[in-house]
Amino acid sequence: MRRPLIAGNWKMNTDRASAVALATGVARRASEFAQLDLLICPPAVYLIPAAEAIAGSKAALGAQNMYHEANGAFTGELSAAMLLDVGCKYVILGHSERRHILGETDSAVNKKTIAALDAGLIPIVCVGEMLAEREAGKTADVIRRQFEGSLAGLTAEQAGRVVLAYEPVWAIGTGKVATLDQAEEVHAALRSLLAQRYNRQSADSVRILYGGSVKPSNAGELLSQPNIDGALIGGASLKVDDFLGIAAAAK
Ligand code: PEP
Repeated sequence: MRRPLIAGNWKMNTDRASAVALATGVARRASEFAQLDLLICPPAVYLIPAAEAIAGSKAALGAQNMYHEANGAFTGELSAAMLLDVGCKYVILGHSERRHILGETDSAVNKKTIAALDAGLIPIVCVGEMLAEREAGKTADVIRRQFEGSLAGLTAEQAGRVVLAYEPVWAIGTGKVATLDQAEEVHAALRSLLAQRYNRQSADSVRILYGGSVKPSNAGELLSQPNIDGALIGGASLKVDDFLGIAAAAK
């Protein structure tokens, strides 16, 4: 049985005070959600105050990105060890905004995924097609290319420790949500890719999150799909009630 994961990607939002308030609000009510994992991913500069705010609660901390090297002359970057050092358990990798705005390639995501796993962080590896790709009937090809490129070289044991997130780019921050059939079709395809590339055990254990305009009002039906094991939430994760409303729908 896969344990649902409800993850908030705060992106480049909040300031120190509002980040602490949001983390505190989530932490206060986290014990209501014993049967699932709750995760907040604040901007990197607020990881430490957010870690302090959620200390002692069952909410976990994650980063939105990292670099694959362990240390050295990589100005502006953060290593997996640094993220662990400040209390992170997860790291989001290959988010579509990093792929499409910042030019991150499958190969870069692959190096980061391996470095995260080697260090003991749980990578949340994001994949998703753009609107033109869906309209051209290329969704399955794009998902397979991103899956194979991002997870290249992983053993079945390593693959079993990854979390995947399917985030159709056209649904992120747009208010457009994939239909249940569209989302479940890609989630099921990802699970068969896991089974083909690794083994049934990895395929059955990997959590596959859906992301793209998830709200309390649409979370219940999305999360009831057999291959949707949680949500990666942008906009709605910036309000405690909305974020936890989605978590309540996953119960
Ligand atoms: C995201 O940032 O991963 C995301 C899905 O954003 P939103 O929920 O705002 O669409």
